[in-house]
Amino acid sequence: MKAILLHKHGGPEVLEYGDFPEPQPAPGEVLVRLEAAALNRLDLWVRTGWPGIKLEYPHIPGADGAGRVAALGAGVTGWQVGDRVVINSNLGCGVCPACLAGRDNLCRDWHLLGETVRGTYAEYVSIPAGNLFALPADFDAHTAAAAALVYHTAWHSLITRGGLRPGESVLIVGASGGVNTASIQIACLAGAEVYVVGSSPEKLALAESMGAHHLIDRSKDDNWPKAIYTLTSKRGVDVVVDNVGTTFPLSFRAAAKGGRILTVGNSAGPKFEIDNRFVFGKHLSLLGSSMGSKADFAAVMGLVLAGKLKVARDMTFPLSEAHLAQERLEKGLQLGKITLEIGEQ
Ligand SMILES: [Zn+2]
Repeated sequence: MKAILLHKHGGPEVLEYGDFPEPQPAPGEVLVRLEAAALNRLDLWVRTGWPGIKLEYPHIPGADGAGRVAALGAGVTGWQVGDRVVINSNLGCGVCPACLAGRDNLCRDWHLLGETVRGTYAEYVSIPAGNLFALPADFDAHTAAAAALVYHTAWHSLITRGGLRPGESVLIVGASGGVNTASIQIACLAGAEVYVVGSSPEKLALAESMGAHHLIDRSKDDNWPKAIYTLTSKRGVDVVVDNVGTTFPLSFRAAAKGGRILTVGNSAGPKFEIDNRFVFGKHLSLLGSSMGSKADFAAVMGLVLAGKLKVARDMTFPLSEAHLAQERLEKGLQLGKITLEIGEQ
C-alpha cells in the first residue's frame, strides 16, 4: 500500500511517500480502506519527536481517518465489508478496570493511533472493531475524519469532565484551533453563553461563524481578563477552556468565583508560573483531561453526523503531499481542519 513513512524525526521533509506492506487484521480487528485522514497538532509533535518517544520505524503518522471496511479479522461481528466508518483513535486495552468501567482514556496501557501505533496517513489501517463508528452513506469522509479527534477531546473536556450546563458562560482562549472551534460549537449547543479571545479578525470571524456570542481581539488589547470583567458585569465566566497553558494566570483572572478551568493541552509550552491565591481565593477547579471514552465518542459523533455540530474545514492535500499539509499546519495558516485525500492508486 501507499503510505507516509517516517524513518527519523525532523522537519516536514522526513515525511516520505512510499510503499509499506498492507496490514492484516488480527482477531477482533477490522481492516479499513481509508478515504480521508485529518491532521492534528499531535502529528507535528510525533514528527519532531520528544524526549522518551519510542517509535517502531518506519512509523506512519495520523490519528484521524474515515473510509470503508475492507476485511474482517477473526471473531468480528456487526460489520460488513464495504461499510462506511470513521475511526476513534483511542486504543485502550479493553480488559483493565478503567476500560471495563467505560473510562478507556484512563487505561494504563493506553495508546493513540498515529502516536505510538502506525496511523492513518496510509491506504489501509487495521484497528479494533470497537474503535469504528458507522458513517451514513451521504456523510463526507473528510468532514468525519476532521471531526473525530477534536470533537471527542472537546466533548470529554466540556461535558464529561467540565459538566457544562445550559445558561453558564464559557470563555474559549484561542479562536482557530481544532479543539477550540469544536468547543465553541459544543458550548453553544449546550446552551452556554460563549466568549472567545482570538489573535486576529480572521480567526475571530471563524469563531463567530461557529456560533460564538462575544469576540475579544487580543491583537488590539492584550488585557482580555479585563474585557471579560466588563462584558460580564464584573462577574467573570463560569468555565474557561485554556489549551494554551501559559495563559493560565489570565484565565484564573477571567474566571468567576467557583469557576472551572478546563485544559486538554498546552500549545504555548508546558511550564509556567501560577499565582495560587487565585485558585483558593476564587474557589477555582482546574480540570485536565486527554481524549475521551468510547461513550464520549459515540455521543459527540452522533451529533456531528446529525448535523448538530459543524466542522470547520481548511484545505485538502493528496496523501503524497502530506509534507505540504503539515507545513501549513506548522505555520498556523489554516482556518479549520486540514485533511488528506487518500484516493485509489
Ligand atoms: Zn485498559
